[in-house]
Amino acid sequence: MTAARSWMFAAAALCALVAQGCIGRPAPVGGGREDPIEVALTFDDLPSNGPLVPGETRRSIMGKILATLRRHGISSVTGFANGRRVEEHPEDVAALTDWLAAGHLLGDHTYSHADINAIGLQAYLADIDKNHAFLNKVDPTDAGRFFRYPYLEEGPDLASRHAIQQHLASLGYQATDVTIDFYDWAYAEPYARCLAQHDGVAIAALKTSYIQNADTFLNWSVAAGRQIYGRSVPQILLLHVSAIGAEMLDQLLTDYAQRGVVYITLDRALRDAIYHQPVDVAPTRGDTLYEKMIEARHVPYPPFPLQPDSLLSVICD
Ligand SMILES: [Zn+2]
Repeated sequence: MTAARSWMFAAAALCALVAQGCIGRPAPVGGGREDPIEVALTFDDLPSNGPLVPGETRRSIMGKILATLRRHGISSVTGFANGRRVEEHPEDVAALTDWLAAGHLLGDHTYSHADINAIGLQAYLADIDKNHAFLNKVDPTDAGRFFRYPYLEEGPDLASRHAIQQHLASLGYQATDVTIDFYDWAYAEPYARCLAQHDGVAIAALKTSYIQNADTFLNWSVAAGRQIYGRSVPQILLLHVSAIGAEMLDQLLTDYAQRGVVYITLDRALRDAIYHQPVDVAPTRGDTLYEKMIEARHVPYPPFPLQPDSLLSVICD
């Protein structure tokens, strides 16, 4: 789950005002006329994100995701887990063991899905340690090599950021940036509301919006990567293990593939130099790598897309 980015929305609103075509269904960005768009899938908030819906368990949601990944031939995906979610619902550990049994990997997302800006540095480091111990128990052979900051919040200042980075390195973790974040998590609660109301028309609208938003942000990230780095770069997509995420994954993966996406492992994406350049800024907006680069280097960038906030806040409310 990531924080809202009011500055992005403001920029997007301005963009819409000057009619630069920021919203609406975008044109394909791949289709064979460019390099393939390499995308590493990552899932946050294992074993649970968003509300449960009737007829589902956390394990059944995970089962849908695993079946879809298998059908698309996608292996070795990294999922970032929070130990506290298992402490609160011990039965949900089955979702994690199923994930590992399918050959996927676990990474660290802090124990309590901690927000560094809320709990402070020392408590945050302790929360990382607590989750590291949890992962060691769940997966003794591989306690994970990757770390994902909850809310994509990395610290309110450079000193705390550097302290966290040093701590992660001491545990053998590599912090894992995101380059495509289409706010998939924001669909989880509206989806549960619409299901509870048996509103098929609204559910269909949500699903259409989900794919449109995923396309819009894929387009933005591909364009931003090319503009910032002057070449095609491997993308890292942020997804969550929610009920609607499981429901939509097959359509999402098919849609992206039709747009020229090829799926790669996180390990392969992270070999690219863009993920190893220091970006010494300290925004507190839950930024993707590209947003941090835009702030740090003052590089030109494509107009930011709009989020379907109005739809998600009012639908089935
Ligand atoms: Zn999260």
